[in-house]
Amino acid sequence: MTNKDLADLLLPNVGSDITVYENKYPERNLKEGAIVTRFAPSPTGFVHMGSLFTSFICRKVATDSGGVFFLRIEDTDQKRQVENGVKGIVDDLKNFQIEIDEGMLNDDEEKGNYGPYTQSKRKEIYQTYVKYLIEQGKAYPCFCSPEEIEDIRLIQEKKKQRIGYYGRFAKCRKLTFDEIKTKVENGESYIIRLKSMGDFEKKVKVNDLIKGELEFPENDIDVVIMKSDGLPTYHFAHLVDDHLMHTTHVIRGDEWLSSLPLHIQLFQTFGFKAPKYAHVPPIMKEENGSRRKLSKRKDPEAAVSYYHEKGIPVEAVKLYLMTLANSNFEQWYDCNKDKTLSDFAFDFKKMSSSGGLFDINKMINISRNYISRLTAKEVYDGTLTWAKIFDTEFAKILEENKEYATKVFNIEREQKKPRKDYGCYSEIKSQTWYMFDELFNKADKNYEFQTINDKDEINKILATYISKYYSDSDTKDEWFNKMKDLAGEFGYAREVKEFKENPIAYKGHIGDISLVLRIALTTKSMTPDLYDVMKLLGKDKISARYLEIINK
Ligand code: GLU
Repeated sequence: MTNKDLADLLLPNVGSDITVYENKYPERNLKEGAIVTRFAPSPTGFVHMGSLFTSFICRKVATDSGGVFFLRIEDTDQKRQVENGVKGIVDDLKNFQIEIDEGMLNDDEEKGNYGPYTQSKRKEIYQTYVKYLIEQGKAYPCFCSPEEIEDIRLIQEKKKQRIGYYGRFAKCRKLTFDEIKTKVENGESYIIRLKSMGDFEKKVKVNDLIKGELEFPENDIDVVIMKSDGLPTYHFAHLVDDHLMHTTHVIRGDEWLSSLPLHIQLFQTFGFKAPKYAHVPPIMKEENGSRRKLSKRKDPEAAVSYYHEKGIPVEAVKLYLMTLANSNFEQWYDCNKDKTLSDFAFDFKKMSSSGGLFDINKMINISRNYISRLTAKEVYDGTLTWAKIFDTEFAKILEENKEYATKVFNIEREQKKPRKDYGCYSEIKSQTWYMFDELFNKADKNYEFQTINDKDEINKILATYISKYYSDSDTKDEWFNKMKDLAGEFGYAREVKEFKENPIAYKGHIGDISLVLRIALTTKSMTPDLYDVMKLLGKDKISARYLEIINK
């Protein structure tokens, strides 16, 4: 009996030959050096920071090399599925503007010539390759029950031997054709295992693009390649898919590093060219002086929805990710402020092999600088997009006052050193609420006047300012001179310097007066330029707010 007979016995319904698929998915027509890479999550419905980071790197290297980045859904493990699990992943990538060239667009649709891009739709393809391997005498059926496998494990544990189905433990390896035939005919359930030719005593060398040259013992375990439901295991599916989709670079989390000898072996078993591998270290977090992995369970910032809700501009998140990815990026960006991420040459060799330390404050700081360099119109658009999802009250105000809000965001913006009030879009309302009557009028206001505290004095200052000094048409100089006049009229020094030279001659100085005007107008002792604030609010609103205090 030949291996071909065995293959036909085990997979009678697989009619095609692997050449069908080898021809159906030809080499990609790309320029020399183009990187073809992929993001291959299980359909768990969301992307976490670690895989966003990896996808970001995939997108970057594919774009820079004129290559392809695709999304493949790895759903052969039915336990890890959630309903609409693909949509969540697609949306998360979209929210971060990580575009895919090929692959899944939602739970059912896809684009690209190398599909299907969902593994459960590729069953026939995998089975064709499994059958081919059996024909080559490189795979065999295993009828061991879970209990038998458990027994093997217990023996191995007891004898302190390596765990797994290998060597003398691989008893189904020795089954004859007739024994197999009888079992199959009796309807016994089976899986297919790789007949490993590896020798654990020998070493394989692999060059990981991030970790450098690594040495592993060869794989000698007869791993499962096809489960009893006819679906492949992850390892086997990875081999078939990355081969047929012509992946040149597998960029993935380093939890897969230990599978690397097996993956290399699988490619060798078929005589296929293996892709290059880059195992990305996890993002780390410092806690109580020690480092641990950023955790989906413990850290809210591990969910990418966190950044979306906070309203950190996508570009700022990406700038931060690049600082984590390449140690030289920050300096480069400092020296090339007019350039963007796409101008930066990412280099695997400049990645830390132990994992970058995540620092949310640093990300917010990058975001703060980034927002400070946007135009007021861009800030308006970004804030509105954010608010439409997360703060509909604010969105309505912004929509009804587009021109005005843009002017508010423009205060101290178009200058050499723009103001850096906003760390993210969700902070903007709390920084600007007093500029909008809709928010100011209904707020619970607490005026904490500081140096000048006498209610009578405050009322007189406010009343005099409005009736005698403030005018919407004043230039900044005119406005400032009037503030000085007001200070003089009330017995305060027109300049701080004058006051310092002769403190007993005055009640205080111009700074005390402007503080009263500022707090009475906004409730805050620190705001952007008071002239700009007043000019935007205008005389009617200023009078109304001052009158409310006077009449209280
Ligand atoms: N499906 C695997 C995962 O869930 C992908 C590993 C790979 O990229 O090769 O992480």
